[in-house]
Amino acid sequence: MVKETILVYARVKPLGRRQEAGIYSIEDDEKSLSTLEIIVPHDLADGVVNNKRESYKFKFQKIFDQEAKQDVVFDSIAKPVAECVLAGYNGTIFAYGQTGSGKTFTITGGAERYSDRGIIPRTLSYIFDQLQKDSSKVYTTHVSYLEIYNECGYDLLDPRHEASRLEDLLKVTIMEDPDQNIHLKNLSLQQATNEEEALNLLFLGDTNRMIAETPMNQASSRSHCIFTIHISSKEPGSATIRRSKLHLVDLAGSERVAKTGVGGHLLTEAKYINLSLHYLEQVIIALAEKNRSHIPYRNSMMTSVLRDSLGGNCMTTMIATLSIDKRNIDESISTCRFAQRVALIKNEAVLNEEIDPRLIIVQLKKEIQELKDELVLVTGKQRTSELSQEELLQLDKLIGTFLKDNDPDSALDVGADMRKIKYCFVHMKELMNHSKISDRKWLSQHTSEEKDTNKEAEELEKMKELLQQRDNEISILYILVNMLKKEKKKAQDALFQLNAASAGIPCAVPSSADDYYLSVGENMSLGCQEAFEVFKRDHADSVTTEDNKQLLKQRFAEAKCLGEKLNEVRNKINNLKGKITQRHIQKAALAVSSPSEELNMLDPVEEKLRMQIEEEKKRYYFCLKLLPSCGR
Ligand code: ADP
Ligand code: MG
Repeated sequence: MVKETILVYARVKPLGRRQEAGIYSIEDDEKSLSTLEIIVPHDLADGVVNNKRESYKFKFQKIFDQEAKQDVVFDSIAKPVAECVLAGYNGTIFAYGQTGSGKTFTITGGAERYSDRGIIPRTLSYIFDQLQKDSSKVYTTHVSYLEIYNECGYDLLDPRHEASRLEDLLKVTIMEDPDQNIHLKNLSLQQATNEEEALNLLFLGDTNRMIAETPMNQASSRSHCIFTIHISSKEPGSATIRRSKLHLVDLAGSERVAKTGVGGHLLTEAKYINLSLHYLEQVIIALAEKNRSHIPYRNSMMTSVLRDSLGGNCMTTMIATLSIDKRNIDESISTCRFAQRVALIKNEAVLNEEIDPRLIIVQLKKEIQELKDELVLVTGKQRTSELSQEELLQLDKLIGTFLKDNDPDSALDVGADMRKIKYCFVHMKELMNHSKISDRKWLSQHTSEEKDTNKEAEELEKMKELLQQRDNEISILYILVNMLKKEKKKAQDALFQLNAASAGIPCAVPSSADDYYLSVGENMSLGCQEAFEVFKRDHADSVTTEDNKQLLKQRFAEAKCLGEKLNEVRNKINNLKGKITQRHIQKAALAVSSPSEELNMLDPVEEKLRMQIEEEKKRYYFCLKLLPSCGR
């Protein structure tokens, strides 16, 4: 980045034959700036003759006096700027001064002699010379030629120029991009591959400029002309392009309207000229001031076009052209004052490098192809950009298995194929989004039906309780049925036992009625037993049941007592029967040993035993008669 002030030069035009020279002197200093001193006699300043003189001193980079030749001016002023432009920086050289002070002569040159060639043809010549010498880069050169007249822009290289009036031509308009770069619409950029082509274009532009000019309308002095050389350079194979441009500006005459003494159409022109130069001056004042944030570039087309050259990214040089004859002294002073302000502006020129997107695309395409080839070589597989249907299905399966696998160490291995890896991510995202949606649906349903569910739960609880109650009742009924069945069976058994006893069959009799109930309860669970107890207690017939129970107990006791008596009687009877049998055996033995008549006679002992048996039998039947009443 180069940061330096705008270099300001002065050039004094040779005096015409009839012109009377003003008083001025030039003090050249090789090391620092040169000084131009202009002396104004007082009779000129206020019209009153006196011998006092007023001196005005101005500093310039260099001052070219009347005899300075075009080649010297070019070497000092334009060559350094052209070199910068060749290096990739933007450059501007503009000439400022009153009409007839030599602006066009300096910028374009005089037509009479070849040596009168101005800065434009000399710069073109120099640039093409340099480009030819440098084979390390590929250069492209274009030129454009813009004329600004009455605040309108015209393309001086437009071929229609010859056949049309200036007013009928397409106007060049200013376009601004988002980065506030200026683009000129309808201004053609003509390619010039060599010096000759470029000079032809310059000649075409100058011719067009002159056609518009009539003796009545000296447009050239009232218009601004900007000849621009555009250079782009690129090293072979590199994507970096350097673009630079050099504006060579021939401004309209800086003289004040009052001085011109014109009216009507010319006055309008003069207003425009002066207005645009006035705006140029305002821009320059603003730029020279420190801490000015707003620079009024937009006020005129001229300042808009030169925005990049004045206070922007540009190496800018100004040439103040002075017509130093007596009558133009005040205009010369005004030009010098303007130049002094311009000299205060500091510009920052930076290299204009950019990357050519087309070249980058070509490079990247080549790189992609090389990488693809390499991939085919390594994997042995030709890869298409899309995965096949079969591969997609296989991936779906793999993802499914992976998601179902609860093992934290399980991995989803699809190999080193970015297409597959990307597909897996997309697929899993879809699955996740889907599950999120169904979760949300469930949540919203759940919230809206929460109250209903609570009601249902309450009802369910009630039903459960009811069912439990019914279950208890059923099991109690079942127990009762069983109990009744068993009771019936016991009663039948008791009857059977008594009958059997009467026939001499021994039988087991329950020791008590409690034993019976215990035997019923043994088959029940603890819950059932408890429920049974509650049922027994709360049952409507519980008192009767209790009475019956007591009665039953009593009867059982009586039956037991009778049973015991019956057994006792039966034993006695059997005992007496045994004694009789014993007596018979004794009598038989006696008859064998000592037969006698007495043995056939009635035995009183036996008779007594038989009597006792009869007595016991009576008692037995009595007890047996009693038994049914207590067994019922
Ligand atoms: P401007 O463009 O400022 O109005 P011109 O460049 O047209 O002024 O100059 C007016 C006249 O003076 C032209 O005829 C031109 O040839 C002549 N002239 C200007 N400067 C010089 C110079 N340095 N040497 C010789 N003639 C000059
Ligand atoms: Mg001119």
